[in-house]
Amino acid sequence: MPIDPTQPYDPDNIFARILRGEIPNDTVYEDEHVLAFKDINPQAPVHILVIPKGDYVSWDDFSAKASDAEIAHFIRKVGEIGRTQGLVEPGYRLLANVGGHGHQEVSHLHVHIFGGRPLGPMIARG
Ligand code: AMP
Repeated sequence: MPIDPTQPYDPDNIFARILRGEIPNDTVYEDEHVLAFKDINPQAPVHILVIPKGDYVSWDDFSAKASDAEIAHFIRKVGEIGRTQGLVEPGYRLLANVGGHGHQEVSHLHVHIFGGRPLGPMIARG
């Protein structure tokens, strides 16, 4: 069920619980501001989720409210993870779902990194 990205941040969303250590995750990268971990239901051989540690509901919320430093750090880390995972030469895809039409299911901003095989057309038609 997609979330409503206009609602206030829900501190009990599953990624908030991962950040608090209440639920385990398969960590790929972590620093003071960012956590990257493997998606529990991978859609490609490489499927990593990158999240900021701040309380941001969505890409919309983050781009409106986060500081320039937070945004710069997050974007640099997404790129760095792509490089360290060896995805640049074969290529990869980034995706951030927002709200209902974007089919966002978890109400904490996450960027998907997909790779490890040719990924086909950009989105499904239908
Ligand atoms: P989205 O539809 O963009 O909100 O994607 C949510 C993603 O979170 C899906 O790809 C899920 O498989 C993934 N997910 C949900 N719970 C977990 C979890 N506990 N650990 C890792 N990934 C998860």
